[in-house]
Amino acid sequence: MEKIKMTTPLVEMDGDEMTRILWQYIKDELLLPFVDLKTEYYDLGLEYRNETNDKVTFDSAYATQKYGVAVKCATITPNAARVKEYNLKEMWKSPNGTIRAILDGTVFRTPIKVKGIEPCVKNWKKPITIARHAYGDVYKASEMKIPGPGKVELVYTAEDGTEVRELVHNFTNAGVVQGQHNICKSIESFARSCFNYALDMNQDLWFATKDTISKKYDHTFKDIFQDIYDAEYKEKFEAAGIEYFYTLIDDVVARVMKAEGGFIWACKNYDGDVMSDMISSACGSLAMMTSVLVSPSGVYEYEAAHGTVMRHYYKHLAGEETSTNSVATIFAWTGALRKRGELDNLPELVKFADNLEKACIDTIESGKMTKDLALITELENPVVLNSLDFIKAIRETLEKMYA
Ligand code: NAD
Repeated sequence: MEKIKMTTPLVEMDGDEMTRILWQYIKDELLLPFVDLKTEYYDLGLEYRNETNDKVTFDSAYATQKYGVAVKCATITPNAARVKEYNLKEMWKSPNGTIRAILDGTVFRTPIKVKGIEPCVKNWKKPITIARHAYGDVYKASEMKIPGPGKVELVYTAEDGTEVRELVHNFTNAGVVQGQHNICKSIESFARSCFNYALDMNQDLWFATKDTISKKYDHTFKDIFQDIYDAEYKEKFEAAGIEYFYTLIDDVVARVMKAEGGFIWACKNYDGDVMSDMISSACGSLAMMTSVLVSPSGVYEYEAAHGTVMRHYYKHLAGEETSTNSVATIFAWTGALRKRGELDNLPELVKFADNLEKACIDTIESGKMTKDLALITELENPVVLNSLDFIKAIRETLEKMYA
């Protein structure tokens, strides 16, 4: 067959360890034989980040702003052990953190549904997408242990020196205290990313906080969402036949458990952290989840939700067989190729992305899968394949579609 053409390059961010190995297998077996792949390549592998003093991470984020769509492999976030292992000049920051800070986005995660790997919540017929605000709250909090009796106050000092004070608590004994913040601009970005994504997916958007208890903090989130919805999105939502729905966090949790799925659930930072793990675990595995960062300016970065699968990498280096699930990484590529196809009006590229995703699902549903899935599937006698053979099995399914 003639290879499918692209016009604008994708920003390709290579990564580390086992996912870097899968990255190459995926390109060789599933992309290059079918697509005349155009990418602008950035090596975010830890060695090259170290060599460039992490400049390559910044450059990849700027390129994403320029071209609009990126695909990212999982990367190591260095800790003390990694500094030693890779002989690093510095403990470089998390690439995801750096990229998010530049693109200012919201992370959307959706389980990939496959027959034979059913969610343990029986009524979830369609996937539930979590939209997690990735700035502030408890993740940027200041905390204190209070040793004994005394007064704790919140103090805001304006630039002209005037002060506003609010009593937190008059301690009569030991305790703890915490100060959280968020920024209206970041909440506005979060809201716009969610509204845009709901329109993109043609799905309802649910949002919840605890505004009855947190009358200023959480209420600000509620108000910002409502104001932006009324001013910028109400008509578009009505035209698309979808709904924006706000309720309390406890009410939304109760409704989610009874729901059919097929909607987007916007969560404050902490709620999103907790709830996305609940959804992914209830639906099977981190490797069966898509993840995309959407910026309010309409820039998209697709990735896998999991890490570099270090344990498998060391087995691979030792010459042992691995059975690492490449589905989330393949879906990062298909998400990015589909978005590129939509933006550049290339229906064949969009179709290829659809076909490759279908090939992954069909291959698993035919009983061929990696070990992580074989352990949880309801299918009888699954065939467990190694990392490369699983990708080759997907290629076979895909080739049949194009035959
Ligand atoms: P991990 O996601 O790599 O692994 C967690 C567990 O899930 C392991 O038991 C692993 O075997 C299993 N697992 C994950 N993905 C799998 C797959 N595709 N197939 C089969 N099993 C899979 O997380 P970790 O071990 O905590 O971290 C390893 C490295 O990844 C760390 O250096 C960390 O900094 C990095 N990390 C990167 C990202 C990212 O780039 N998005 C996210 C998380 C962790």
